Amino acid sequence: MQNLEITNLSALELAEKIRNKEITAVEAVTAYLNVTEKKDKDINAFITVCHKEALAAAQEIDAKIAKKKKLGLLAGVPYAAKDIFATAGIESTGGSRILKGYKPPADATAIARLKEAGAILIGKTNCDEFAMGASGEHSAYGATKNPHNLKCVSGGSSSGSAAAVAANMCAFAIGTDTGGSIRQPAALCGVVGLKVTYGRISRAGVFPLASSIDTIGPLTKNVCDAALVLGVLAGQDKYDHTTLAAEVPNYLKSINKSSALSESKKKPLQNIKIGLPKECFESKISADIRDNVNKVIVNLEKLGAKVSECSLPYMKYSIPVYYIVVPSEASANLERFDGIRFGLTSDDDSSLIDFYIKNRSKGFGDEVKRRIMIGTYTLSAGYYDAYYKKAMQVRTLICEDFKKAFTKFDALIMPTTPNTAWEIGKKLNDPLSEYLEDMFTAPANLAGLPAISIPSGFGQNKLPLGIQFIGPQFGEEIVFKIGSVYELSKS
Ligand code: GLN
Repeated sequence: MQNLEITNLSALELAEKIRNKEITAVEAVTAYLNVTEKKDKDINAFITVCHKEALAAAQEIDAKIAKKKKLGLLAGVPYAAKDIFATAGIESTGGSRILKGYKPPADATAIARLKEAGAILIGKTNCDEFAMGASGEHSAYGATKNPHNLKCVSGGSSSGSAAAVAANMCAFAIGTDTGGSIRQPAALCGVVGLKVTYGRISRAGVFPLASSIDTIGPLTKNVCDAALVLGVLAGQDKYDHTTLAAEVPNYLKSINKSSALSESKKKPLQNIKIGLPKECFESKISADIRDNVNKVIVNLEKLGAKVSECSLPYMKYSIPVYYIVVPSEASANLERFDGIRFGLTSDDDSSLIDFYIKNRSKGFGDEVKRRIMIGTYTLSAGYYDAYYKKAMQVRTLICEDFKKAFTKFDALIMPTTPNTAWEIGKKLNDPLSEYLEDMFTAPANLAGLPAISIPSGFGQNKLPLGIQFIGPQFGEEIVFKIGSVYELSKS
């Protein structure tokens, strides 16, 4: 098989071909490394490429296959991880200068589970510093460019993960989503991005942004791959007490059933009720995005779904609430980066306070400093009640809006983003306009709900569009079902 043919396969197809000995794991890794070497000079999706380690892991998988040993679900499949995941012995920077050169002693749980399933880490991807951003420009290692137009942003903060999947530099990738950082770059780069229910996947070993909101998830070439990877990542973890103890459903099976249905029946979404929050169209969104939502709805109705309007009255407060809660929690989480235990360290030992200040002012970028200042303020005595506590109260109202909507609907449909990818640099000096890019993604984060972004064509500017389906708590299966039927109907 040629390189190109290998890298065009989905993760599921590739795993099958490796298991059936049509392709070796070494061939798969080599094919992806070749594409990466060719394309990443322009895209800048990777901070680290793990040539040696990936080839060694591939040889181990091939040896296992030769000895007919039991294989994991993703044996031999090359993937990339956002540089915010700790990877044992491999530099993990979080996109920050403060962690340059830092090699963690252990793997994050997500990385360990993928390893156990036989997936092969081929690199660590670029991201906005400590996952703060919606453009992929706030990395100490340079901006990630959009593979569809190198002059445009790739979206953030899991910019490199989305761009690497879109440019076929890995079979799938993983990222984190606190306010949209998986779905938003997935939409801007034209790939599938899944944000899971809070507590579905362990956050252990992932540098935290906002601990009450952070989630981990896959970015993939199709919905089936997202279900496959979720099956490997999901489940309780003793290192993260917010993970759910319940059994993990067979996500792949639920998709296979729905795609089989869609071949046999004209209306595979028969009995599915989908709500469209009317507030979506009251916000400032581009004409392309608005037309796209309407087109997708027509398509879903043809497939049998019943789509009707609903209301999430408090959704409009998502951005103000999010940009109080996140900086507050981030300012506390980032305390640990003081230059003593990790990464960058100054040789100024005049006083402890000067030492901290030097390390942090040199090590952190502008957006991180901005959030530390805001968060320190919103948490300080005298302001806590007015800001953090008030924001958390409004957050509860947002959760209740969703709860009410899910008494009537199986899932909700929304655009993923208000705009397609914009030109690099355009919003850099206007943080608020970048924050507003999260208006349709942040609500699901604040409510802890699962949501998927699926490619839904291209705008007038030939840049990818994404559509988002949101499910009730632990309702990943319903978003997979709707997503996979919709995806299939387009092909
Ligand atoms: N754009 C959002 C922010 O900057 C989302 C970040 C995220 O999901 N990690 O906070």
